Formats: sequence, C-alpha cells, structure tokens
Amino acid sequence: GPYAPIRAPDISKVYMADLESALHYALRVEVARFSVLTGERVRALKDFVAVLAKYFPGRPFVRNFLRSVDRWLRNARESRIPYSGLELVLTGRKESPSALPALVTWVGCQGSEPHFRGYPCSLWTLFHLLTVQGGPDHSPLEVLGAMRGYVQSFFGCRECAQHFEGMAAESMDKVRSVDEAALWLWSRHNRVNARLAGTETEDPQFPKLQWPPPELCPLCHSVVNRRHVWDKAAVLRFLKAHFSPANIFLDYTE
Ligand code: FAD
Repeated sequence: GPYAPIRAPDISKVYMADLESALHYALRVEVARFSVLTGERVRALKDFVAVLAKYFPGRPFVRNFLRSVDRWLRNARESRIPYSGLELVLTGRKESPSALPALVTWVGCQGSEPHFRGYPCSLWTLFHLLTVQGGPDHSPLEVLGAMRGYVQSFFGCRECAQHFEGMAAESMDKVRSVDEAALWLWSRHNRVNARLAGTETEDPQFPKLQWPPPELCPLCHSVVNRRHVWDKAAVLRFLKAHFSPANIFLDYTE
C-alpha cells in the first residue's frame, strides 16, 4: 500500500515530494473546505500564494502553476471567492500541464503509521524552506506573516493554530531581518517539539528532538557553564544549507 516504506528517508535531505504534497494538500484539501472564501481568508490565501509564487524553488511546471494561481488571485477583485472558481485554476486545463501532482506522497514526512507525520510535517518543512529563500533586502515578516495567516485561516488542526497564533502574537513582530525570521521559526518549532515530546502525537520511529540534533549539525551545539547552548550563527548557516534548493531531492528511490 501507499504506506509501505519506500526506503528509510535520509534525515539530512529535503524531499520535493513532501513539498509538492504540502502544496497539494494545503490548496486542494484545506482551502477547499470553504465553499466561499471571504474577508480574512481571501487575504490569507493571497499572501500565502504570493509568497509561494515568489520563493518556492520548485520544478518549472510547479512554478508556472503557482504564478498562474497568484495572477488569478490578484485579479480577483471581489471580496468573496467561490472555491469553484479557484478550483479551475488549481486543477489546470488538461492541455496545459501547469497543475500539481494529484496525489500526496510522503517521503521525508512518511510516518510509521498513516496517522503520524504527513501533512503537518510537510507544512513545517515548506515554511522553513520559504523563510530561507528571501534575500536580505526582503521584508522580514513577508514569509512569517503569510504562514501566520495561512495557519490562522486554514490549518485544519485548530488547536495547533491557536498555539501557533499565541507564539506569533507574543513575539513575531520583534523580528527585524530575514535571518531573524528563519531563526524565529526554528526556535518556535523547537518549542512545539519540546511540548509534544512523549505525547501520543509522537511517532515512536521519529522522536521529537530539539533540532538539528548533533549528528546533523555538531557546530550548532555548544556547552557554556555546563549548560547546553545553541550557536545561533551556526544554526542559521545550517538552516540555509539544509533548506537550500541544492538539498531538495526529487528522486528518493536510490
Ligand atoms: P515535525 O515537527 O512536523 O517536523 C518536520 C521536520 O522538520 C522534521 O522531520 C525535521 O526534519 C524538521 N524540523 C524539526 N524541528 C525543526 C526546527 N526546530 N527547525 C527546523 N526544522 C525542524 N501538533 C500538536 O499535537 N499540537 C500542536 O499544538 C501543534 N502545533 C502545530 C503548529 C504548526 C504551525 C504546525 C505546522 C504543526 C503543529 N503540530 C501540532 C503538529 C506537530 O508539530 C508535528 O508537525 C507533527 O506531530 C508531526 O511531527 P514530525 O515528527 O513529523 O516532525
């Protein structure tokens, strides 16, 4: 079946299958839950797709797809968007191959059982990736703001969305640069990992760690006065390398 492990994923890699599956699930499952988008949801979707169209380092046909969805949304001046209209853009025309793969495939995000990992794992991965694509001249809150809006308006796990909004309201507006944005998301994700470690949402095959563990990034860790401290400069270098286009793998069967 689809959950038969293809092969143990390499935790040092990012897999395009997870990222494209995140796009598919976000746009064609989560957004589709609303037959008509209004108000805040319209704004959140526009911001999310604008960020994807700008920064998602995808295959050419996926980038074309994202640009066409972005264009369509920008031209939609109405304050209410029926999903049926959006759906035409999201599925593409048969003759123009600008749509996403029609199925989700988890590779790096595959759980040991179907209810573990999958989409939430891929959504984190997607947003970490997006935070490191912005150049130093970009607005520091562009990607984080889009993530905040998407999670608030659409993320199906409402408890998760509340937790995330709590962290965002507390400190997101203190972020002053794109580097700080990448580190903000990294440190908040680690807070979530710490909170969830040992709970029933943890896949026993993928324990919740403070990430990246020393095996992935020895230089990220140091000890001061016998206490563990992160070397933030090393973490930032690691995030930029780990979530760089060069570390995204299309082929996961070898
Ligand atoms: P995930 O935590 O999903 O991480 C995915 C991958 O990202 C990891 O495999 C690793 O490669 C990498 N990674 C891990 N930590 C970091 C980091 N600090 N920085 C960068 N990369 C990292 N579940 C709940 O039960 N309660 C919640 O309140 C909750 N809130 C959530 C909020 C958001 C915004 C999201 C997207 C998810 C939330 N979830 C919550 C789901 C939960 O965080 C996990 O996504 C899910 O349990 C699957 O875990 P996972 O082991 O696949 O790893």
